[in-house]
Amino acid sequence: SLTLGIVGLPNVGKSTLFNALTRNDVLAANYPFATIEPNVGVVPLPDTRLDELAKIHSSAKVVPATVSFVDIAGIVKGASEGAGLGNKFLANIRESDAICQVVRVFEDSDVVHVDGRIDAASDIDTIATELILADLQTLEKALVRLEKEARTNKDRRPALEAAQQAAAILNDGKTLFQAGVDSEPLRELTLLTTKPFLYVFNADEAILSDEAKRKELTELVAPAQAVFLDAKVESELLELDDESALELLESIGQDEPGLNALARAGFTTLGLQTYLTAGPKESRAWTIHQGDTAPQAAGVIHTDFERGFIKAEIVSYDDLVAAKSMSAAKAAGKVRMEGKDYVMHDGDVVEFRFNV
Ligand code: GDP
Repeated sequence: SLTLGIVGLPNVGKSTLFNALTRNDVLAANYPFATIEPNVGVVPLPDTRLDELAKIHSSAKVVPATVSFVDIAGIVKGASEGAGLGNKFLANIRESDAICQVVRVFEDSDVVHVDGRIDAASDIDTIATELILADLQTLEKALVRLEKEARTNKDRRPALEAAQQAAAILNDGKTLFQAGVDSEPLRELTLLTTKPFLYVFNADEAILSDEAKRKELTELVAPAQAVFLDAKVESELLELDDESALELLESIGQDEPGLNALARAGFTTLGLQTYLTAGPKESRAWTIHQGDTAPQAAGVIHTDFERGFIKAEIVSYDDLVAAKSMSAAKAAGKVRMEGKDYVMHDGDVVEFRFNV
């Protein structure tokens, strides 16, 4: 499955956040997922629609989609210069499908900042620069080879041109994700900065309640998504019962745990979406890629479903809830029959028809 690699400078709260993520995972013990490896946290994608569907269908259980975060330890500054831990850091990022940087914006004189001061823009720049330098090194070698190949084989020209364009952007100090380049012709080079980025601002109450500051930081990282949370509070929340957790959240002006927002942002950053199925056995969210067709969606349940796909019976979640039952939704003409070219929408409640 796709993963987000958590990176950040030392002392920004990565471990605190990662521990909260993995504990959240353990807390969800009634769900069929587990922490696979010590450095992987598999967390549920919160989805209140599943509870509503479970009510309508008297489902025995609810199965949410999940999002996987990988804790990427290792040095950051100077990583692109190679040696040992730096290589491992970059190799781990290469294996991730998206990059999730934790950025410290909380004030705490007891926690030392590596550069002696809190400066989000500079921290973001430090990591981006290492990844940009690593990509430039990759490109330097690739360009020599691609130029040679393109001289004798014109089919290689698009790859060469894409690499040249990428090098120009990176030399300009921008990541390829930021610049919005099409990563497809660059795929063979496995560059780091084509991966989507997500920023988690580890904030204190002052920043959580400062809308102007949050807006400024959100704009700083666009087109990447920004999530604001207090990693320390997130880990405290997991120790509390629901009522006390809600009180603590209210006291800092939040209406849900920041981990929920992080799971959602992580999920969409990976280019994923869900569709829903519901019945007496379970109400469940299934993970697909944005833009997947109905047969591809069926294939997530079982490969036979994709091969034998006939059609999909689909009602949108809102229509189903408004009608209060599947039969009422049918009677109201809200249930559609979709064929193999149908592109799935988030919130589609689906029943597949297939041959096996
Ligand atoms: P890492 O080096 O990035 O993994 O950072 P840690 O998670 O180990 O955190 C470094 C220090 O900052 C620890 O003493 C944490 O307790 C503290 N810390 C982490 N998150 C927060 C936060 O949101 N607020 C405050 N005040 N301290 C935090």
